[in-house]
Amino acid sequence: MARYRDAVCRLCRREGGKLFLKGDRCFKPSCAIEKRGTNPPGQHGAARRKMLAGYGQQLREKQKVKRIYFILEKQFRNYFEKALHQKGVTGENLLFMLERRLDNVVYRSGFSTSRRQARQLVNHGHIEVNGRKVDIPSFQVKQGDVVNVKDKSHKNAHVEGAWSTAAGRGRPGWITPGDGDLSIAISGLPTRQDIDQNINEQLIVELYSK
Ligand code: SF4
Repeated sequence: MARYRDAVCRLCRREGGKLFLKGDRCFKPSCAIEKRGTNPPGQHGAARRKMLAGYGQQLREKQKVKRIYFILEKQFRNYFEKALHQKGVTGENLLFMLERRLDNVVYRSGFSTSRRQARQLVNHGHIEVNGRKVDIPSFQVKQGDVVNVKDKSHKNAHVEGAWSTAAGRGRPGWITPGDGDLSIAISGLPTRQDIDQNINEQLIVELYSK
C-alpha cells in the first residue's frame, strides 16, 4: 500500500493547524506549528496563504481529514460511499467509521502516541480484539469489544512510553479501561463531541456530492 513518506509536520503547516501526527512532540514547544506558525511550508509559504472558498475549501477539508486518519484517497472515498448509504447524517457517519478503525482505537486508547505508530502496532500483530490477534488497521470495532496489547508486547518500548503519557492526551468517553493491564473496552460509540471540533465534515459531503 502506498504511504506518505515526507516530513509529517509539513502536512500540519499545509493544512494550517495541528493534526497531531507526531506523538508527544505535538504537545511540546518543539512542534513545528508552535515554532513557525501556520503558514504553508516552503520559501513562499506565507504568500501562498489566501482565503479559500468553495471548491478549494472543500478540498482542503477532505485532505485534512485524510491526513489526520492516514487514509488514502480510494479508501477514503469508499468510506464516504458507505456513509452515504447509512441512516443519519452522512458527514457524521463518515467520521464515526474513521473513529472506529482499529488503528484509531489503539491511538485513542493510549497504546501509541500517534495514529501512524498505532497502525504499525496493528500491522505487526501486537493488538488483540476479544482475545484474538487482529492485524487489519481498518477493522471496525463495535460496542462491547475488548482491545488489548498482547501480553508478549507489554515490554515494547513504544507501547510503554505511550501508555505512561496517555493520561496527558486524554481518552474519549466511549473507550473505558478494561480489566487487565494495557486493555480497554469499547463501552459505547463515538459521538460528534468526541471528534475534533475543527473538522467541518459538511464540506467533504459537498465536495463528493458534486
Ligand atoms: Fe503537527 Fe505534531 Fe508536527 Fe506539531 S509536532 S506540526 S502537531 S505533526
